[in-house]
Amino acid sequence: MDSDCIFCKIVAGELPCTRVYEDDDVLAFMDIGPIIKGHTLVIPKVHVDPLTSVPDELLATLIRIVRKIAGAQMKGLEADGINITQANGRVAGQVVPHLHFHVIPRFENDGHSWNWNARPYDSPDEMEGLASRIRSGLPMEI
Ligand code: AMP
Ligand code: ZN
Repeated sequence: MDSDCIFCKIVAGELPCTRVYEDDDVLAFMDIGPIIKGHTLVIPKVHVDPLTSVPDELLATLIRIVRKIAGAQMKGLEADGINITQANGRVAGQVVPHLHFHVIPRFENDGHSWNWNARPYDSPDEMEGLASRIRSGLPMEI
């Protein structure tokens, strides 16, 4: 546990939450600032951050629960669709530095739209150059 972390405090019961699901490793609870009402957070009970430092097995467990919550929102809330988001780093909009997945129910005409400003590459070479740099960062085996 990180004593400065609000999500660790929620896991420890030192701060309240509205629980949706819990098991030995994972907690899912309602986001107090929902993008769309029903917006749920899925977190590991251990303090871990960012995504790149999560052990494979725990990540697999988390994403299984993310899928379950998404299904539950579709069934229980009759959501028409789901967005999953997960931020790493302040520059990416992360406010709470304890790994969490946002599971956001979407409804026809819910009024929300993402600020998704697609911008073109200057040239195919520029795109290939960036792909090459990403490839150079891949481990030998994934
Ligand atoms: P992020 O910007 O990805 O770090 O998201 C953090 C999320 O945590 C935001 O959507 C907040 O509304 C939510 N949040 C912060 N404090 C609490 C809390 N005490 N209970 C539930 N959700 C919280
Ligand atoms: Zn924490």
